[in-house]
Amino acid sequence: MSTDASAAPARLDFIREIIAEDLRTGKHQTVITRFPPEPNGYLHIGHAKSICLNFGVAREFGGRCHLRFDDTNPTKEEMEYIESIQADVRWLGFDWGEHLYHASDYFERLYEWAVQLVQTGKAYVDDLSADEIRGHRGTLTEPGRESPYRNRAAEENLDLFARMRKGEFPDGARVLRAKIDMASGNINLRDPVLYRILHASHPRTGDAWCIYPTYDFAHGQSDAIEHITHSLCTLEFEDHRPLYEWFLANLPVPSRPRQIEFARLNLSYTVLSKRRLLQLVKEGHVRGWDDPRMPTISGIRRRGYPPEAIRDFAELIGIAKRDGVVDAAMLEHCVRDVLNRKAPRRFAVLRPLKVVLENYPEGKVERLSAVNNPEDPGAGAREVEFSRELLIEREDFMEDPPRKFYRLAPGREVRLRYGYFVTCQKVVKDPAGEVVELRCTYDPATRGGDAPDGRRPKATLHWLSAAHAVPAEVRLYDNLFTRPDPGADGDFLADLSPKSLEVLTGCLLEPSLRGLGTGSVVQFERLGYFCLDRDSDPERPVFNRTLTLRDTWAKIQAKSAANE
Ligand code: ATP
Ligand code: MG
Repeated sequence: MSTDASAAPARLDFIREIIAEDLRTGKHQTVITRFPPEPNGYLHIGHAKSICLNFGVAREFGGRCHLRFDDTNPTKEEMEYIESIQADVRWLGFDWGEHLYHASDYFERLYEWAVQLVQTGKAYVDDLSADEIRGHRGTLTEPGRESPYRNRAAEENLDLFARMRKGEFPDGARVLRAKIDMASGNINLRDPVLYRILHASHPRTGDAWCIYPTYDFAHGQSDAIEHITHSLCTLEFEDHRPLYEWFLANLPVPSRPRQIEFARLNLSYTVLSKRRLLQLVKEGHVRGWDDPRMPTISGIRRRGYPPEAIRDFAELIGIAKRDGVVDAAMLEHCVRDVLNRKAPRRFAVLRPLKVVLENYPEGKVERLSAVNNPEDPGAGAREVEFSRELLIEREDFMEDPPRKFYRLAPGREVRLRYGYFVTCQKVVKDPAGEVVELRCTYDPATRGGDAPDGRRPKATLHWLSAAHAVPAEVRLYDNLFTRPDPGADGDFLADLSPKSLEVLTGCLLEPSLRGLGTGSVVQFERLGYFCLDRDSDPERPVFNRTLTLRDTWAKIQAKSAANE
């Protein structure tokens, strides 16, 4: 791939500006970025922002992006996560090619470098417990206190560190710490821990190690080993940068990556902490990592969000230097924008009400032409069956309609989309007084949806032929949390919404929806976008509601444009 300016993006954020400048001045010949997930959970929409940035930059500037697992904590990491992360990055449309790495690939080299720090008096073995080390650390206003073990001789440190590796000590008995400055204004420089003892099997290195490097000791050096040019990370690592630079300055690293921080994504009505997401899964508040209410990539994929919409969203929100909260409506807007163009239209009735057309011949079936997607003329048309017994949406009828309810009511005429005009003549109720059936008449002159005399009903409804409809389960989703800032008042679980999932079992679909592939998204006319779930079987499809049709973000945009 070339690095000429024409490949560069049209609009540059501050990170892309830095990279463009480094290529222009020849500081770097090519850009190398990386996405460095810790395999201790599934990726979420916040990670998607980082993926789109790192892989996007590499693609735009003709460089490359590595996928590197920061697998330094074997007690929390699992193969399942490693696999899901790879699948998710691919699904988002990115490819690391042959550049798949693991921090664990570098365990031997990191160990050697740690030994070098010990030899040069820049690291020591500390026998204090984790609690004692915390107690010695000091605060933002008070300096830390030195450990009594800080001035051990290099030989003793070397011996102890080697025995730590050999497995002579139990977990937590000792750590290796860098010897930097316990009085530093930056707490990260107060003799940070480099290695801890963990007698735990690692998903990749098995039982080869019982000491593991900390994230801080592994991360920057892994970047250097891979010749990463721009190490892009979220703002919470800004205070760690001096420590990374200390390592780079004190170790014989093969390159000096530049770390640049950007604001992490926060989304309203959403939690994006892996710890909290894990808790939701483990405690059964959701039906797994890929529950369609989860902000995980696998959750939103199962919900029916297309990868293109996630990339659009990442571009729309851009890259900033200051944290903020993005309105969840913006993400939904991006999803609707893609689905409106792509999703075929179909008929489905979620809460059916029977309609009998008294003047329509018994046994007659007509096949009427229905447009697949008005946004896409190439999508063509399909046929839908029309017959004497139909189903409409229960909420499209009111016996005693208020003003502004224009849909079906006694004595009123409406249009059945692609079908005929029908007029409600009689309401049939069960002994409990509930409406169970409508007796209607149809006007044979209005076939296809237009009247020769030009009259136009105020409402157009979707419908199904009762004899042809396919039964289905439909799962309706709403925000998982009741407030935009879950947990702001304490326990985030207290803000879980009891209405986030509603399962409808008596739904009916047009027959063309049978045989759709898992993950396919269609628009149920007038209802929203729906995605075929993997819980489906051929006899009984299950659909997830991706989103309703209403687009609050588009409305906000239109309003602010009108006020300008
Ligand atoms: P958590 O805070 O939930 O534990 P994490 O940041 O520790 O997540 P990692 O697996 O270390 O999770 O993240 C991999 C990369 O994704 C990191 O570079 C991190 O900065 C980035 N990332 C994580 N969360 C977000 C977010 N909300 N917005 C943007 N980037 C993120
Ligand atoms: Mg992290």
